[in-house]
Amino acid sequence: AEKFGIKQALKDLGLQETNNGTSTGKDFFSSGDVIESYSPVDGALIGKVKTTTKEDYEKVITTATAGFKEWRTWPAPQRGEVVRQFNDELRRLKEPLGKLVSYEMGKSYQEGLGEVQEMIDICDFAVGLSRQLHGLTMHSERPGHRMYEQYHPLGVVGIISAFNFPVAVWSWNTALAWVCGDACIWKGSEKTPLTSVACQNIAARVFAENNVPEGISSLITGDYKIGEIMTNDKRVPLISATGSIRMGKIVAQAVAARLGKSLLELGGNNAIIVTPDADIKNTVIGAVFGAVGTCGQRCTSTRRLIIHESIYDKVKDAIVKAYKQLRIGNPLDENNHVGPLIDKDAVKNYQSALDKVVEEGGNILVEGGVLEGEGYESGCYVKPAIAEAKNDFKIVQHETFAPVLYIMKYSGDVSNALELQNGVVQGLSSAIMTNNLREAERFLSVEGSDCGIANVNIGTSGAEIGGAFGGEKETGGGRESGSDAWKVYMRRQTNTINYTTELPLAQGIKFDL
Ligand code: NAD
Repeated sequence: AEKFGIKQALKDLGLQETNNGTSTGKDFFSSGDVIESYSPVDGALIGKVKTTTKEDYEKVITTATAGFKEWRTWPAPQRGEVVRQFNDELRRLKEPLGKLVSYEMGKSYQEGLGEVQEMIDICDFAVGLSRQLHGLTMHSERPGHRMYEQYHPLGVVGIISAFNFPVAVWSWNTALAWVCGDACIWKGSEKTPLTSVACQNIAARVFAENNVPEGISSLITGDYKIGEIMTNDKRVPLISATGSIRMGKIVAQAVAARLGKSLLELGGNNAIIVTPDADIKNTVIGAVFGAVGTCGQRCTSTRRLIIHESIYDKVKDAIVKAYKQLRIGNPLDENNHVGPLIDKDAVKNYQSALDKVVEEGGNILVEGGVLEGEGYESGCYVKPAIAEAKNDFKIVQHETFAPVLYIMKYSGDVSNALELQNGVVQGLSSAIMTNNLREAERFLSVEGSDCGIANVNIGTSGAEIGGAFGGEKETGGGRESGSDAWKVYMRRQTNTINYTTELPLAQGIKFDL
């Protein structure tokens, strides 16, 4: 780690050996147990973070609720100006933060930097948005009346995020929610607590300089237990939760029980359809990066390849050949393609998926396995694997958060491939590789992909912040980031104004007194 300047990065980000994982802004405190954060890169202890107790949480929610009452009165462009300054700090600290993301989560340094770039991009988007939080005007059916709609700040937004995008998901939510006038309480993943403290340090400093009320950027730390306290709290009108389908089902029910709003970004089971008209070279690049990038730990990772029988062997051989060239090792070293899984539990899940696909009758094309020896001391490095499998295998229907790619054949028309692609419970990302206009349009049509993201001639993995991000079915239905995703962070109000001396009723109803 020292070779890669981790110590300096921690210092630049204001991290100590032991950090308080609870904060309302300037104020950092915490009276819970300590989480020790170990790097999957080399197994070393990076630092410690104290968790949030119920009493600590109470202080956070009280402060955030009070802070919101003032923050909502700030003109939105002034809130945007604070986000602009926060973004300047992100630009300044991009390298240390990208490095910490890479070291604590295990993704490549390039991807760590890319994640911070996503934060920068969404902040840019949010600054512009702060002058465009507009509603519609409508013509009233009554003479002398005017009707319009406006969007007001919603309140406190609870953000629960997953380990695999430890910083970007927070900013996808907060950058928008802040310009919308909300206070945010973030519970990051207990697997990446230091990146959360690092982000809060940055926000706290900029917010204090701008006299933003305390509580607008708040942090809580811990596992599902502190998450559940927040999801059950009726003082939090919106919960935005990113993670597994299992978690989403629990959170959705808790929030619905109190009639709160939830925005869910859950698991995917993403496929690329490869048709006879596909460009094979691009297919291989898209599929291999999609399957092994971030060691298969993206919600948009490519899990399934659905290949037309006429080109099946050709594509299969090209992909197997590409896998042979993959270099697995320290993700901070730019020569490596594949870093470690997040922890040893993830390694177990990976091994069990490979066992199960064989038990169900699958055929292993590229052997998996856990790497040992020098450079692999953390025990989290695994070989990306490929298996020929059937779509209806139980294990294929399930999202395994690891580099395991299932490939399968289709015959006949592209509609047969679509049936396979849509034949899973998840609905996040999808792609088709084809130069055939009819196939591409079919894929995008009402009878095509049922996913929130549908790409033509690019893979499933990764997305730009300008579009709304999210998926259908058990992926949860939420949309974050660009387009009009901001609307979920505000409450809509319809206003009718009568500027006459009469009081005509709607629908021509007479009510003479
Ligand atoms: P996870 O579900 O184990 O944890 C995610 C977060 O939820 C953590 O902060 C965790 O503490 C919290 N949590 C768990 N149970 C909870 C409960 N009952 N109440 C409140 N909070 C609770 O997921 P993970 O292993 O960190 O991340 C991997 C999963 O996240 C994958 O399924 C992946 O597809 C998904 N993911 C989805 C998206 C998306 O945008 N759709 C993005 C990133 C990750």
